[in-house]
Order: sequence, then structure tokens, then C-alpha cells
Amino acid sequence: MQRWFASDVHLDDGAEHELRTAAFLGWLRRAARSADEIYLLGDLFEMWIGDDDDAPLARRARAALSEASATARISFLVGNRDFLVGDTFARGTGIELLGDVARLEDGTLVCHGDTLCTDDAAYQQLRTVLHSPEWRRETLAKPIAERRAMGDALRAASREANAFKADNIMDVNAATVSTTCATHAVRVLVHGHTHRPGIERSSDWDRYTLGAWERCGWWLESEQRGTEQTWRLRCAPLALLAE
Ligand code: MN
Repeated sequence: MQRWFASDVHLDDGAEHELRTAAFLGWLRRAARSADEIYLLGDLFEMWIGDDDDAPLARRARAALSEASATARISFLVGNRDFLVGDTFARGTGIELLGDVARLEDGTLVCHGDTLCTDDAAYQQLRTVLHSPEWRRETLAKPIAERRAMGDALRAASREANAFKADNIMDVNAATVSTTCATHAVRVLVHGHTHRPGIERSSDWDRYTLGAWERCGWWLESEQRGTEQTWRLRCAPLALLAE
């Protein structure tokens, strides 16, 4: 059983983002051939304005995920940028939407990672609002042109403030990681979000942090044979993945 994990691809419309898009689409084709299960752990999109988005990128992503989900089981959980991805998108692409935190059959816990950054009280407060059914309903009720304009304004604001650049994203809170692993009775945690790729091992758990797709694409491969399971955190230049 092969499980591949990726997050924080930050797919975006526009020629300047084309290499990253091509890299992800190349990676997804490879993943669909090699893996039984693919886990996309949030911020696949830089911005998601609703499942009715008909922009070129949204259309390409739908087509690629539909093709990939024909040969691999794809699970998706939302991040802090693409949290408006919903059931319509999932049904249309044959992927499964997971909740904020999910425990896989092998006992691995997956999440985007933002919920682990509990030192950032302001962000957690904002998250509660943005994830509320009321905010979601009100936002999705707006015409798509208005949501697109909101998205563009948010993008510009975040470029200005660099609010989503690695240095400004707080790291996970160690106690929250331990509590989360203990609550779900897991020994392996996989997440992204912090843009701090790496492996941390403690006596109680191993934590794999996926990287953001900037110069390289990052993913984690888990291979399970019987009771043996091996993990490999991998990265490759975008240009190589795009081939
Ligand atoms: Mn994120």
C-alpha cells in the first residue's frame, strides 16, 4: 500500500505561476500511477472563491483531479487559503473531502497544520469566523465576480503584508502536537502549512511536515507492507516535476 501526501502547492492563475501548476499536474499524474491513496493536505490553491469558479486554473485542476481519481483514491482537506472548497468540487472530481483532522486506516493523523499553531491567537480567532457556517453561507451567496474581486484584494493584501510567507507563519505549538497525537491515539502526524518541511521524532510520535511548493515540490511517501511501514519525505525541482 502506497500513500502519497502533499500540501501547500498554492496553485494560482497567471503566467508567472505556470511552472508550479505544470509541476503539480505532472506530480499528480505520477502519484496516481504510483500510489493507491493520495492525500492533499490543504492550500492546494492559493485562493478558492467557490466551487462555481470557472477560471482556467479551476477548470484544469478539476480535469486533472478527475483523471487522477480514476486510478487512485484522493482525499483532500482544506487549508487556510482554500477553505471554501466544498462538496460540489469533491463530487465533480471524484475526491473525498476530509474534516479538519483525519485518522487514516494505518493510524496516521493528517491535518493542514494551521490548527496546531495555537500560539497565534489572532489567527485562530479569525479562523473560527472564516470557518463558521454563517460566514461561508454569506460569502458563497455573493456573485462570483464579487468573490473574485475579494480574492484579488486579499491576494494583494497578503503580498503587501507577506502574511503568508514562511517567516511570518508561526510554527506549531509543541504541547498542541502532543495533545493532538494523544487524543487521537496516533504515533504519526503529517501536516503542512508552516513552510518548515522536516521530520521531528519524539518518544511518543513522529511528525512529518510537508513543504510549500516554491522552488521545489514536496511530498511524503509512505509504503506499508504487512506491519512494516517506511516513510520518505521527498522534494524535487519544479522543472523536473513538470516534465
Ligand atoms: Mn496554510
